[in-house]
Amino acid sequence: MEKQAHIAIVPSPGMGHLIPLLEFAKSLSSKYNISSTFIIPNDAPLSTSRLQFLDSLPNSINYTLLPPVNLNDLPPDTRIETRICLTMTRSIASLRETIGSMVAENNMVALFADLFGTDAFDVAIEFGIPHYLFFPASAMTLSLMLHLPEIDRAVSGPYKDAPDPIRMPGCLPVHGKDLPDPFEDRENDAYKHVLHIAKGYRMAKGIVVNSFKELEGGVIEALQQGQPGKPLVYPVGPLIRTGSVEPSKDVNELSCLNWLDSQPRGSVLYICFGSGGALTFEQVTELAMGLELSEQRFIWVVRTPKDKVAGTTYLDTKDHDENFYFLPKMFMKRTKNHGLVVPNWAPQDQILRHSSTGGFLTHCGWNSILETIYQGVPMIVWPLYAEQKMNSIMLTDGLKLAMRAKLNEKGIVDRIEVFRVVKALMEGEEGKMIRIRSQELKGSVTSVLSENGSSSRTLDQLASKLKKEI
Ligand code: UDP
Repeated sequence: MEKQAHIAIVPSPGMGHLIPLLEFAKSLSSKYNISSTFIIPNDAPLSTSRLQFLDSLPNSINYTLLPPVNLNDLPPDTRIETRICLTMTRSIASLRETIGSMVAENNMVALFADLFGTDAFDVAIEFGIPHYLFFPASAMTLSLMLHLPEIDRAVSGPYKDAPDPIRMPGCLPVHGKDLPDPFEDRENDAYKHVLHIAKGYRMAKGIVVNSFKELEGGVIEALQQGQPGKPLVYPVGPLIRTGSVEPSKDVNELSCLNWLDSQPRGSVLYICFGSGGALTFEQVTELAMGLELSEQRFIWVVRTPKDKVAGTTYLDTKDHDENFYFLPKMFMKRTKNHGLVVPNWAPQDQILRHSSTGGFLTHCGWNSILETIYQGVPMIVWPLYAEQKMNSIMLTDGLKLAMRAKLNEKGIVDRIEVFRVVKALMEGEEGKMIRIRSQELKGSVTSVLSENGSSSRTLDQLASKLKKEI
């Protein structure tokens, strides 16, 4: 009987990292009989929704929660990237212990760490396990990370003041102000951590990226050009949840989907800022008022606002407030016939594939983008954090699959702009063109995932390489 190959997967904190890794593990298991264990670092017990998610894993995929690390020594304004990187680094001792016991019981053929987890490579090396990087974001962002050590040497001073845009092979030029958040302040620990992990990328035996040639052909081709010391790059995307065929048993999910069932085809704008995006109080008011003015149908996943700047509650382990005290007075009453406000979490994959959904106002997280492209839904981009500004430029200037919600001089998308962009996407000429292009790209996504499609063939190559390690 064939020995079963087993892999260890070490995700960094955050649902956006976990979801594509899980899809990757599912494909390896269902197509190639490679089982896996997720070894999960964190700095607090997981929220109910995350635990439910993990408990729904298929039998071939196990998980172990590492003991939460202590980050109490960090000042309150510590950036999220620093928190994530330190969660990973401070979990190394318990990771070593867990890998030690797994090695004794399994045919370990690889360890996959994700974008913030390159310190885990040291543990893999100690146990003689081949170590791979799983990159859950775009190939363009991967290219930025692989070139970061050179870019850091070449550009002096703040990136936002650099006279020339950053140029990476096969990518649109990126202005310093549009680089990921930690690049804003090169003196901040967050940037130093990102630079440190980026240096580790070249140690990987291979890099799996959640993208595909038909979407990012130029950059993928450049990444795949052989160079000494450059790991092989495997584009296997889109690795996304494509919607359960089973009817949902969750009451909140069901009410959302039932509501959609009763709306006209293509009429609903879905609004969601990822697994952790939160707006300011003022921005929530402007979004609500603009939506109301637009008179369009909507489903809005609402989170408790942040006090000052919009950003992320990505690492929050608790669920959010459900009484919506922060929405404009009577907003829910006035919009109840055409809008649905959902607390915390909505079944995004099912909403996007529902025939009533006609647009998505998104924070431009990479998973959300792939899920939307897969369903051919046109977008409004509203980037909030991480590399989302780069993603939004790719969608608007590059692929022309989205419209941009513009900030005013105070850094707010005001109600008039919300009204304008929502109307334009759902009813205007530009929205029509974007809808046509979105449908065209949808067709090519289906083909990359077919048996002979580029991503399926790449996954075949990777799986046979992993199996040779038994
Ligand atoms: N998601 C969801 N329901 C929500 C919010 C998010 O199902 O209410 C899922 C979404 O489908 C995607 C992931 O969470 O798979 C968010 O990942 P993304 O990369 O878009 O954003 P991040 O959360 O990493 O910023």
